[in-house]
Amino acid sequence: MSWRATILTLFPDMFPGPLGQSLAGRALGEGVWSLHAHDLRAHGLGRHRNVDDTPFGGGAGMVMRPDVVDAAIAAATGDDPLPLLYLTPRGRPLQQRDVRRYASGPGVMLLCGRFEGVDERVLDAHAAEQLSIGDYVLSGGEPAALVLLDACIRLLPGVMGSADSATEESFSNGLLEYPHYTRPAEWQGRAVPPVLLSGHHAAIAAWRDAQARDATRTRRPDLWAVHASHPVTNPLPA
Ligand code: SAM
Repeated sequence: MSWRATILTLFPDMFPGPLGQSLAGRALGEGVWSLHAHDLRAHGLGRHRNVDDTPFGGGAGMVMRPDVVDAAIAAATGDDPLPLLYLTPRGRPLQQRDVRRYASGPGVMLLCGRFEGVDERVLDAHAAEQLSIGDYVLSGGEPAALVLLDACIRLLPGVMGSADSATEESFSNGLLEYPHYTRPAEWQGRAVPPVLLSGHHAAIAAWRDAQARDATRTRRPDLWAVHASHPVTNPLPA
């Protein structure tokens, strides 16, 4: 059975969007994963199919109603429920280990917020996992859902060309990846690091390891601190 992506959104036409192209698009066509984008508006109330209301306690903006979101979740949940994830800047930062966990399960149901977000009670009632894709505010959860799905889909069996691609890349061992170079060996007066042309595999591996450490230490002191206290020598399984 294919990996399932169920999306609850006010803008179902945003899907598959970029995921209809390239690796993810081919995998979608081949049935490696399936996509069901449910229109939250279909569960809206009254003649205007309202999905939102003013916030209790006052303040700017509108809040997505719990009854509307609950009805959408119920309608989109089949016999085999999927973990419900709510994309929100208030969530825990999404990490590669989360992506690996979701990719190795049956799929995900993603709730995309709009306006000021979703009434907290329906998130509690469904034990939704709240995830952020970064410390900035988007206008809606749809781009965040596309990001999460892209990260998962490339890990599904058979989607990536080389089995090594997922084990050697950034975050697989707690570090950023080393830099890459290709032909020409000299470009605009800039030479490729000579060790990469040496054919000496052990020296290349040592150089790459040092580069990965250096990039992580200088660019991501948060990751470096974790790695330094718990070094991961073997890449985690994809
Ligand atoms: N009032 C919210 C706050 O300050 O935390 C921001 C709401 S935002 C304008 C509307 C929706 O975009 C959110 O409900 C969420 O679904 C999505 N969103 C915005 N930024 C996000 C992020 N960094 N990660 C994941 N989803 C995000």
